[in-house]
Amino acid sequence: MQRRPSLTDSLGRIHTNLRMSVTDRCNIRCFYCMPEENVEFKPRDEILTFEELIRFARITSELGVNKIRLTGGEPLLRKDLPQLIRELHKLNGITDIALTTNAVLLADQAEALKQAGLDRINISLDTLNDETFFRLSRRRGIDKVLEGIQAAQEVGMRRIRLNAIAIRGLTETEILPLAHFALERSLELRFIEFMPLDADDNWGSQAVLTGQEIRQVLEKEFGTLLAAERPDASQPAVDFKFASGEGRIGFINPVSEPFCDSCNRLRITAEGKVRNCLFSIAEWDARQMLRDGSCDAQLEQLIRDCVANKKPAHGIDTPDFEKPKRAMYQIGG
Ligand code: SAM
Ligand code: SF4
Repeated sequence: MQRRPSLTDSLGRIHTNLRMSVTDRCNIRCFYCMPEENVEFKPRDEILTFEELIRFARITSELGVNKIRLTGGEPLLRKDLPQLIRELHKLNGITDIALTTNAVLLADQAEALKQAGLDRINISLDTLNDETFFRLSRRRGIDKVLEGIQAAQEVGMRRIRLNAIAIRGLTETEILPLAHFALERSLELRFIEFMPLDADDNWGSQAVLTGQEIRQVLEKEFGTLLAAERPDASQPAVDFKFASGEGRIGFINPVSEPFCDSCNRLRITAEGKVRNCLFSIAEWDARQMLRDGSCDAQLEQLIRDCVANKKPAHGIDTPDFEKPKRAMYQIGG
């Protein structure tokens, strides 16, 4: 239950959504996220323990956070993840817990995750093709991902969404196969524009395949897409239904149509740095406080400082945009 004023920034944006990274490790190497070789992961003792994550989540829940998404790195690499989910479910005020995964390990873990109360899962699926999967992720394993999706459906997870990255010159050919795959399985599909958060610095605005362009490809195949209802005004995606009324397909267009005005997200990295934006340069060190005997009120102040310092917008489209030093896997996407 919320007992104190909400986490409101200077523009009146109320922060109710927490993204917690549980690891910076990953079992694949998507080129738009991680370096190919010599990845430096944080040592185990620098990563927040479950107790620390739960305490941080509890404090934010008392400040109005009601949604938590677990991410990484690849969250399914974190041992005993269902245990963390069970504990987070016990927090007053948390009404929604979700997970983002590459699904390589999902077939083995879907049942335990479901048993822990996980009902909402985003699965990253950029392609159905083995060779393209290898080109994008520099690892084999599309068969495992597809098994993972099937397992999530079989154990009865109710809200499964597929997320596909959109990169010009690479993923155009994936649009229609992914849309048919999602439609046939009654799964939601969202396309996400490529953002400047790749470790290898390959991003350029010309590589952004925009949501608008993807929509045109889909409409040629399926007819005009119909606007879908928008249950959550702060959701970054714009969703549509196919002309037949079936399915749900969405676009997250952070580059071509930034949605910073309605951003309600707060993030904590796997090693306990609190961030007010994917693109923020500044970070607030919660781990230090979680480990030095600081009280809840001190952590609350740190979180409030972080939120108060949120910029109006990411500014990717401005000349003085500064790319964060950390890549997506180190922040938690
Ligand atoms: N490993 C998990 C996965 O891939 O789903 C969770 C973490 S991953 C960082 C979360 C999401 O971020 C994935 O859907 C991935 O496609 C997306 N992502 C990674 N790098 C990105 C980038 N440079 N631009 C846009 N999305 C990106
Ligand atoms: Fe791993 Fe996810 Fe980054 Fe791909 S996007 S390298 S699966 S953390």
